[in-house]
Amino acid sequence: MAYVRREYPQWSWSFSRQQAFESCRRMYYYQYYGSHNGWERNAPPLAAAAYRLKQLTNLYTALGDAVHQAAQLAVERLGLQGRLMDAGEVEEFIRRKMRSVWQWSVGGREQFFLRPKQVPMLHEFYYGKGPGQELLDRINDRITRCAQGLAGSVTLKELADSTSELLACEQFDTFVLHHTQVYAVPDVMYRTSGGRLVIVDWKTGRQEDHNLEQVALYGLYAHEKHNIPPEGITVRLEYLETGSCVEHSLNGEMLAEVREQAQASMAAMLAYLDDVDLNKAKPLRAFPLTDNRSQCLRCNFLELCAGELQVDLEAVSAR
Ligand code: SF4
Repeated sequence: MAYVRREYPQWSWSFSRQQAFESCRRMYYYQYYGSHNGWERNAPPLAAAAYRLKQLTNLYTALGDAVHQAAQLAVERLGLQGRLMDAGEVEEFIRRKMRSVWQWSVGGREQFFLRPKQVPMLHEFYYGKGPGQELLDRINDRITRCAQGLAGSVTLKELADSTSELLACEQFDTFVLHHTQVYAVPDVMYRTSGGRLVIVDWKTGRQEDHNLEQVALYGLYAHEKHNIPPEGITVRLEYLETGSCVEHSLNGEMLAEVREQAQASMAAMLAYLDDVDLNKAKPLRAFPLTDNRSQCLRCNFLELCAGELQVDLEAVSAR
């Protein structure tokens, strides 16, 4: 498909967009507006920098990505070869992915500046000298636990039961809500022999209230897009590090609540636009820095806020 240049980004909504908006308005601006067209050769320096910084990852996110790729591979192997990957195979796969991210981050700074979308770069190396031993130990431990959690997950066991029908795995899709395109990428979706639709989200972090909101949104997607009655949908959060699994059966009331929350979130975001039809954002100054400054040292866009925050980046990198 030919590249069509757009002066402004397309308006859409997603759960992660809502999280960025709630976390820090300035971060939201850089992520969804300031970085737009920053990939172009003659992009203004601020857009180019925001686009580059938007691509940064960190050890926790990189681990989450590697685990999701391992899960996808495990589901595919199950379909093709009819066998479950064991914890050792899963761990080896995750470690290989993590090693690659690490190696690029250590030696690929120049390439990252040239091709930020293609070359992985850890925040820990971009802004500093790399992670400390304590963090590395925590990540190493989490890799092993997540591999064991994935290999022994309820979902893979149920999928191994040939009476379950796999419907989607990491499949990107959208649906329309309040005239807005909403992104939904359920990790796994399948139908049980009893006819229930199960929507699964793999989690590598701890249990948080908003996890249920996210997976319930995927339930709304299944209902709106595929006309599945809410009562026929189970959403499941698989917490791989602890090996625990939380399930909820949906109902109409829950979906109405998800719909309402999404609408309220969309309305709050639209209030930051100068032109709703164009999706043209208000100027940068309309997007304040967060009051919760403790998150700034971990933020991808720290470089762009350092002046206003009076943070000395040299001191940060020397830590
Ligand atoms: S560095 Fe802080 S203020 Fe700036 S975008 Fe990030 S979280 Fe927001």
